[in-house]
Amino acid sequence: MKSHLKMGGCWSLPLFLLLGLANATPALALEEQGNRAKNIILFIGDGVDAHQLTIARAYLYGQDGSLSFDQFDHQASARVRTVSDDDGTTPVYVPDSASTGSAIASGIVTSRGRIGTTAKTDRDVPTILEIAQAAGRRTGVVSTASITDATPAVFMAHTSVRFCQGPRDMDGTSAGLPGCPKDTRAEGGSGSIAEQIARAQVDVLLGGGTRYLSQRGEDGEIVLEQMTKGGYQLVKSAKELAAFTPNGRQRLLGLFGNSTLPTEWAGERGRFAEEVKLSEEGPIYPEPITCQPNPLFGKRPTLVEMTKKAIATLAHDGDRSEGFFLMVESASIDKQAHAMNPCGQIGETLALSDSVKVAMKFAQSEKDTLIIVTSDHGHAPQLIPYPSLFVAFAPDNPIPMYPPGRVALLEPAAGGVMAISYGTNAKYLEEHTGTAIPVFAQGPGAAAVKGLINQSDLFSIMKAALADQ
Ligand code: MG
Ligand code: ZN
Repeated sequence: MKSHLKMGGCWSLPLFLLLGLANATPALALEEQGNRAKNIILFIGDGVDAHQLTIARAYLYGQDGSLSFDQFDHQASARVRTVSDDDGTTPVYVPDSASTGSAIASGIVTSRGRIGTTAKTDRDVPTILEIAQAAGRRTGVVSTASITDATPAVFMAHTSVRFCQGPRDMDGTSAGLPGCPKDTRAEGGSGSIAEQIARAQVDVLLGGGTRYLSQRGEDGEIVLEQMTKGGYQLVKSAKELAAFTPNGRQRLLGLFGNSTLPTEWAGERGRFAEEVKLSEEGPIYPEPITCQPNPLFGKRPTLVEMTKKAIATLAHDGDRSEGFFLMVESASIDKQAHAMNPCGQIGETLALSDSVKVAMKFAQSEKDTLIIVTSDHGHAPQLIPYPSLFVAFAPDNPIPMYPPGRVALLEPAAGGVMAISYGTNAKYLEEHTGTAIPVFAQGPGAAAVKGLINQSDLFSIMKAALADQ
């Protein structure tokens, strides 16, 4: 189904009508006047929870260390809520990035796998990016995953199944993942996520996803060609991105890989967590892993470079700029947690922290900028005692004591040994968890980020900050 907010005719409607169209949870009352944000920069660390932040802080900066956004005045814990698609109401306690992203982007509680659509009833729900566009703001989406992946997609597209990334996925993917035949344009739907992005008129798009955008859409045209003909300038390397200079309202499309971009860091020789082995003498833990720059990263721009260029492009008119909404995702904190790769995760968390610094610097001169840093859901990795606490208490106990899943030992510069345990799935990829997620905010409207909130409140907070006071 097509979003009614994307249509050109909406631009002539009064803003309050447009904002009223959104199907939100009850809007949070803003406590004070002057909460209008000209710019909103939303950062999403995929799979980030208190545990992942603790691991990154301790490894990077020691036990007293902090990340850039730890200094924000406004912080909250947000309940993550998901429902079953069978009845649209039964709680599901562990989400995915599609349901949680849709909560942030559209203020809804929906089912796993859905991109900006309601559980069971499959209704399209307007996104904060569409609302910002309708209010005359520029928009941007940056991700270290494919720009068609769930987290970026929830801001620009509406579909029943997140796997319908390219036109060829509509009947199901080659990996056996479900498709969404009812969402084809022939059936009156909006088409694949890639085709919807091509029509979404987003000003800045940076990330991976060439494999989906190079497919031929239902109208017979290659999606990427449609975009470049329609006014996007395409860049494919860090050098080309650096050379791009904003020119009027020319749109920028940066594609730096076929799908998810390689991480900035990796373990030496590509090492991941490994199983603890048992010997006559007791458990043998794997050797510590050394984190180092990932040799596969190549000539791509870093998340910091993409964030800098996105902000510079969206704000290039200075005082004459109409303001913007930008979403920046560090996607592989999640993807490398699934893969049991602690160095990959920590490097991408550092990239998130450093990218937020870019936004903080921008907000020093552009004070009417709301910055929100959050996550979509929790993840498996845990910082566990090494060796087991109970070994120390009962040295003569004959029962071997060690974690059942895979483990990585890391030796931070600050000294000591950190043991990261991956223990949510015996033989396959690690799982998400259902824990509450952290929220950090600064700028106009940020005061509503406090105490215990719902993840879907983030939509209301951003929508209220966009509205004229
Ligand atoms: Mg994601
Ligand atoms: Zn995941």
